[in-house]
Amino acid sequence: MKVCKLCKKEIESSAKKCPYCQGYQDWYRNPQILSLIAIVPIMFLWFNYINPFNTENFVDYQEQFSSKQINTVELEGRNGPYFKVTFEVQNNTEYKWGDMSYELIGRNNGTIIIVEPGATFSWVIQPHSSSYISASTPVVPDISSWELVIKDLKTGRRI
Ligand SMILES: [Zn+2]
Repeated sequence: MKVCKLCKKEIESSAKKCPYCQGYQDWYRNPQILSLIAIVPIMFLWFNYINPFNTENFVDYQEQFSSKQINTVELEGRNGPYFKVTFEVQNNTEYKWGDMSYELIGRNNGTIIIVEPGATFSWVIQPHSSSYISASTPVVPDISSWELVIKDLKTGRRI
């Protein structure tokens, strides 16, 4: 005979489960504890692959991006002519990024003529690679240079 670990009543020495309180005499026979242990690898996977909070902050990586103007074309839109300015963005980080918020800045000899904010959600850029992005702005005269300033990007293993 032995004493139940939970209710302290006398039970058979070989009993795995107490006949009085239904308590398991070994923790590893308790299905509730086993199901808790089974959750551990699921939590691990969730944190590594799905967790939306597992993201890097763009401000920490801002310096590792550069953009260079490729071309500018003037197109006719429903609301009149517009410039479509294309840039090549270089990502020198080890992360894949997307969901860009940007400002397209047009200058004339250093003087800012126009600042056009925009965002693109379908655009992504792979680690250590470059990707093209086009930004649009209404046609304004006397722009001698364009700059794409990345305001924000999102990352995480979801992307
Ligand atoms: Zn018991």
